[in-house]
Amino acid sequence: MPTLTIKIPLFEPTNVKKEMYETMRSNFSDACNQAIQLKKDDSKMKASEIDKQLGHFLLPSTLVQEARKLAVSRYQDWNKNKKTKGFPRFKKKISIPFNNQNWRLRFDNGFLKLGIPTLEEGNLTVDKYVPLKTNNYSLFWVNFLLHGEMDKKSKFFNKSYETISKPRKSNGHLFFKNGKWFFSFVISFVSQNEVLHSKAIGVDRGLKYIAVAGDSETGDYLHFDGKNIGHIRRKFSRLRRILMKNRNLKALKRLENKEQRIIQNWNHVISKQIVEFAQKCGASIIKIEDLSNIRSMKKFWKSADRNINSWAFFDLELKLTYKAQLAELVVQKVNPFKTSQECSKCGNTKKMNRRGSLYSCSCGYKKNADVNASFVISTRPSINENLTAA
Ligand SMILES: [Zn+2]
Repeated sequence: MPTLTIKIPLFEPTNVKKEMYETMRSNFSDACNQAIQLKKDDSKMKASEIDKQLGHFLLPSTLVQEARKLAVSRYQDWNKNKKTKGFPRFKKKISIPFNNQNWRLRFDNGFLKLGIPTLEEGNLTVDKYVPLKTNNYSLFWVNFLLHGEMDKKSKFFNKSYETISKPRKSNGHLFFKNGKWFFSFVISFVSQNEVLHSKAIGVDRGLKYIAVAGDSETGDYLHFDGKNIGHIRRKFSRLRRILMKNRNLKALKRLENKEQRIIQNWNHVISKQIVEFAQKCGASIIKIEDLSNIRSMKKFWKSADRNINSWAFFDLELKLTYKAQLAELVVQKVNPFKTSQECSKCGNTKKMNRRGSLYSCSCGYKKNADVNASFVISTRPSINENLTAA
């Protein structure tokens, strides 16, 4: 889904308001720091328990939850890369996040006004809304957001906007920059031709690593390192070989059913996280290799595991497609030819560039080989697009 971020300064906030925002920001930062420490001391601590422990902070309850969410995601990120990353601390001058349900805009007395939960007592009533300093550009988009229709006479209107509709508000942030308080927010749209113009992430599927999702524009990626998975699958593989040798078909079938159930659970989790990753990247397309051609699967297969491996890949594909659709994302297939040998930086393709888990190109680019492959996949044209173009 395409998105747009609009940033608007607050219109001359009073000193009382300014001080309140500063207190809120400082409390929010402290709450984040306490939450991440709680998580470090007890990684299994439940969200409700963390929220309770943060209860002493002077903050609206929605911001306590936002602080916990931010801290937990930062903690998980750190936990994965402990060896190289220092324990994160949140800075004092943090920007305060509001999810889409916690900020509102309305026109009032010729002003655009913002409603957010603050330290003021009582519910968020209209008199607590604060004015924003709009300009024609921000008004153009705000009007579209509030009324669902675009001003086609505005100089900011562009013919390509005709394909977008259904604007929706997404998350917002209150922050202080260059001596001013700002509110920024994201508007997301539905676009008829988003498939042709939108951002894509790539997903590389493999055996050692079950899947890697990568955003080649930012270099972000999500690695499902299958240490546990690989261990269990090797155990199944050993058992399968023994049962096949002894021609114990009944036991073989039972084993297969059990393994399939386990794989389904993994795929469920992995596909969900890939979709969330795509959303986080602002991508509307998830690209995967087209593995319907037997030859392209060959690299993964050992004969005894052939059936279950191909089954696992297609199960992941099905779950991913299903979950992507629910999130209004599209899954596209790309040609898998030498995706693991191509350099995502310069486009060179060389077999020897890939040595084990490292991809290293003469252009100087070095990357984990699966991450590189996911980047390559994200930039390949979809097979369907090729067909329609022909
Ligand atoms: Zn290169």
